[in-house]
Amino acid sequence: MYKIAYFSMEIALDPAIPTYSGGLGVLAGDTLRAAADLGVPMAAVTLLHRKGYLQQRLDQYGNQTESPVHWTPEEMLEPMTPVVPVLIEGRTVQVRAWRYRIEGVDQKEVPVYLLDTALPENSTFDRSLTDTLYGEDLHYRLCQEVILGIGGVEMLRALGHQGIESYHMNEGHSALLTLALVERRLESGGLKELTEVDLDAVRRKCIFTTHTPVPAGHDQFPFDLVRQVLGEERASALEVTRCCPSGALNMTFLALRCSHYVNGVAMHHGEVSRGMFPRYPINAITNGVHALTWTCPAFRDLFDRHIAGWRRDNLYLRYAVSLALDEIRAAHQAAKQALLDRIRRLSGVELSDSVLTLGFARRAAAYKRATLLFSDPERLRRIVHQVGPLQVVYGGKAHPGDTAGKALIRQVWEAGRALQDAVKVVYVENYDMRWAQYLTSGVDLWLNTPKRPQEASGTSGMKAALNGVPSFSVLDGWWMEGHVEGVTGWSIGDGQDGGDDAQDAASLYDKLDRIILPMFYGRPSAFAEVMRAAIALNGGFFHTQRMVHQYLTNAYRG
Ligand SMILES: *Cc1c(COP(=O)(O)O)cnc(C)c1O
Repeated sequence: MYKIAYFSMEIALDPAIPTYSGGLGVLAGDTLRAAADLGVPMAAVTLLHRKGYLQQRLDQYGNQTESPVHWTPEEMLEPMTPVVPVLIEGRTVQVRAWRYRIEGVDQKEVPVYLLDTALPENSTFDRSLTDTLYGEDLHYRLCQEVILGIGGVEMLRALGHQGIESYHMNEGHSALLTLALVERRLESGGLKELTEVDLDAVRRKCIFTTHTPVPAGHDQFPFDLVRQVLGEERASALEVTRCCPSGALNMTFLALRCSHYVNGVAMHHGEVSRGMFPRYPINAITNGVHALTWTCPAFRDLFDRHIAGWRRDNLYLRYAVSLALDEIRAAHQAAKQALLDRIRRLSGVELSDSVLTLGFARRAAAYKRATLLFSDPERLRRIVHQVGPLQVVYGGKAHPGDTAGKALIRQVWEAGRALQDAVKVVYVENYDMRWAQYLTSGVDLWLNTPKRPQEASGTSGMKAALNGVPSFSVLDGWWMEGHVEGVTGWSIGDGQDGGDDAQDAASLYDKLDRIILPMFYGRPSAFAEVMRAAIALNGGFFHTQRMVHQYLTNAYRG
């Protein structure tokens, strides 16, 4: 009955289920929530991640430490009966699944199967394989990808989902599913017989969405490790697919080679990806967010009162053009108050509800340039003294192994402390789905400063738009499509790749100084018009109902 299988290493199912790290997982969850709304016959596969991604602690200097997240899968998920064997390093690892049901607006369901190796018949090491998202080392991760890709295909079959026509790989982590599909096809002859005809048959079933325009972001495993983990026969079959340049298995190449439809996640990202992989026809479908999930209670009420049917069909949000400005302002003020209350409660910092509040929250990765706002503290001081006050809320985790990301958090912390007489800066701990809901709806302006063209899409600005929060962002990813200057928000920089830090910072200060702060304090109705246009033009388009429709039209039909 399910025709489409969606594979993702991380899926953000619920704020209380820590099986995601950031944008990729949130996108996966939002995709499935929209698929459920639309009644798409889709089932999803991911890993259980018993210890989650990480719990972030920040000390008084902004040093991050991590601990495992405690949650009880048994309380939130339904156990499934089948146990499937997966061969790893010559051992049989037993895999079972837990089910989470995503229910759409019309009670249609998308089941999500979370694979789990914590079974008594497995060794201690094998039991740990579904513990930690992006954990440990390459060996651990390759074993996890075997479970996701190969175990996932076997599990769907064991669960009785026979009629699957399309396998959608959300990023390359699940690309080994193609190997499982080849094996199934060659059941009698074995992998030694693999030919182009078999690859063609698999290709007709597979769809690949690539998410990173940075070559280092693509998963690669040294071939010796691949031989050790997968065994000689499977390793040789992978060599036949020519996805192992320079002695390493490249999961992106494997997925590219074995898919009939490949796409980037925004128009510009499609272009950049075609430059990276010139031999493949790469399309683009721009990401979205699940509108109901990311609309705060005050705006849900407002939309319910004036925009009939917006929950079932997010396209109706276009008619936000006729909402009254004072109602938009009132809803926003409620969201802002809710955010400030939460910050006071959890961080002990008191922010003002009448001060222009900037929000910046995302993975602490160097290319996102979290400290660009602080690159000229004297200019920032001058601006707030001459034009009007400003406060900033930051959030975001660094991967445990990412020392540069951790240093970035410290730098934001230090810059905030150095500026405390002029600009209040708070860095909230443990940024997650819940914080993202409060932040993207409760700040006045959503700041994003990636170094072009490294932001494939970005989605937090779309969440902000749904809540009438304009973006102030470098022209990269989705913002190249959603940006209308002074109408839906404002750009930073000149839109050239490799944007110069100093120029981007100057542009940021210029616009705060001359356009945004004067409008916010001097012409609040003009600012509210920008809020309204953000909802109608961007909230009404950059949602996953539209995105899933585009996958149905362009990708899923063989
Ligand atoms: C939406 C979201 C992200 C993605 O934000 P980007 O703007 O794409 O960087 C990351 N983490 C969480 C918790 C989110 O909700």
